[in-house]
Amino acid sequence: MSKGTLFDKVWDSHTVGVLPSGQTQLFIGLHLIHEVTSPQAFAMLRERGLKVLFPERTVATVDHIVPTDNQARPFSDRLAEEMIQALEDNCKQNGITFYNIGSGSQGIVHVIAPEQGLTQPGMTIACGDSHTSTHGAFGAIAFGIGTSQVRDVLASQTLALAKLKVRKIEVNGTLQPGVYAKDVILHVIRTLGVKGGVGYAYEYAGTTFEQMSMEERMTVCNMSIEGGARCGYVNPDRVTYEYLKGRKFAPQGSDWEKAVAWWDSIRSDADAEYDDVVVFDASEIPPTVTWGITPAQGIGINQTVPTSEELPADDRFIAEEAYSYMDLAPGKPIEGTKVDVCFIGSCTNGRISDLREAAKVAKGHHVAQGVKAFVVPGSELVKQQAEAEGLDRVFQEAGFEWREPGCSMCLAMNPDKLEGRQLSASSSNRNFKGRQGSASGRTLLMSPAMVAAAAVKGEVYDVRELLN
Ligand code: SF4
Repeated sequence: MSKGTLFDKVWDSHTVGVLPSGQTQLFIGLHLIHEVTSPQAFAMLRERGLKVLFPERTVATVDHIVPTDNQARPFSDRLAEEMIQALEDNCKQNGITFYNIGSGSQGIVHVIAPEQGLTQPGMTIACGDSHTSTHGAFGAIAFGIGTSQVRDVLASQTLALAKLKVRKIEVNGTLQPGVYAKDVILHVIRTLGVKGGVGYAYEYAGTTFEQMSMEERMTVCNMSIEGGARCGYVNPDRVTYEYLKGRKFAPQGSDWEKAVAWWDSIRSDADAEYDDVVVFDASEIPPTVTWGITPAQGIGINQTVPTSEELPADDRFIAEEAYSYMDLAPGKPIEGTKVDVCFIGSCTNGRISDLREAAKVAKGHHVAQGVKAFVVPGSELVKQQAEAEGLDRVFQEAGFEWREPGCSMCLAMNPDKLEGRQLSASSSNRNFKGRQGSASGRTLLMSPAMVAAAAVKGEVYDVRELLN
């Protein structure tokens, strides 16, 4: 049993009671909502004559369905327009803050809440989106939930959940140049598998995470769910507090000192007991690329697509499916694989530091002929900051399209879609069959810098060669 961990302390301090099912009724400090998973939840609430219990603990934005080329209303997609209108109406009727397009604060839900200082250490956070684990970067316990749970949180500000075990993922050392937070989490998932984290919360510890910026920690925590963990977190520290201080919803004045004292107290104790510990050496992590149809099917950029014989018996069935879907031959190098589309964005890698790293690679080069490359900032604030730094010009001069904020081709619930069998190099988080909008489209996950390298070379390419 885990003991003395941040997870235990936050869980225990938010426990309302134990339900007859044995589950914990957990108070949720912050509920983030968006246009896709909330309309039905609000409808269920209306059917029962219930109100939103804590509208001041509920914050909305619009991200999945927004077009990224032209955001003029009404949207040309009638369904998308209906969805944004439903959210506008629901927020208005229930007194919920809504960061709408043009507010200056709109963007992908997991990008905007940290930007605004809404995400804070020691909180419990829920959102009807799998990648809510992102907020764990601040030492929060954050869960992705389904539509009926969105209803539950709207009505009661609580969730019925079974307590998780805690696995410490310790990574120590300094990353090689050209190796990023995305490579770290792809490496962890590749090693532990997509189901390795089922039943666990992942605590990311060790000197590598301590050296990371908040944005890098968000990239890591974001993909916890891809490794099967319900949530992932990093203990709050000086880096966390420096990021938070002065943000709109961060504690101000004397409240700040009190908050820091509380945040320090919830860190995992030095003698905390974990249910499992896994240790990695950062220097052994290469730029990593997926070759298959799950985020665990990844390899180092200089490796070959594994043959069935090289894989554990349990992984062979899904590998065979991946070979035929991806059309990538086992035993062949991943480097040099031709790409059609290059996408930089998403809640994993659509923040300002991601765009800076990608721009460093793109600068002075041009997108290869026949490749469509585009950059989608994670939020209006990210876009504003990037334009102030001239990153938009760097990308455009290199032949990338510069778009408006949204989820874009991460999930393709908007006009940004792969066509046919196109192969995409993507900084997003899922490479499932059909994920990027074409039923036969193919996705290779990698860091934003690696996507930029693929764009200018027209093929999967080792970004370290360009950085040199
Ligand atoms: S960017 Fe992708 S994973 Fe993130 S919230 Fe949007 S659709 Fe979900």
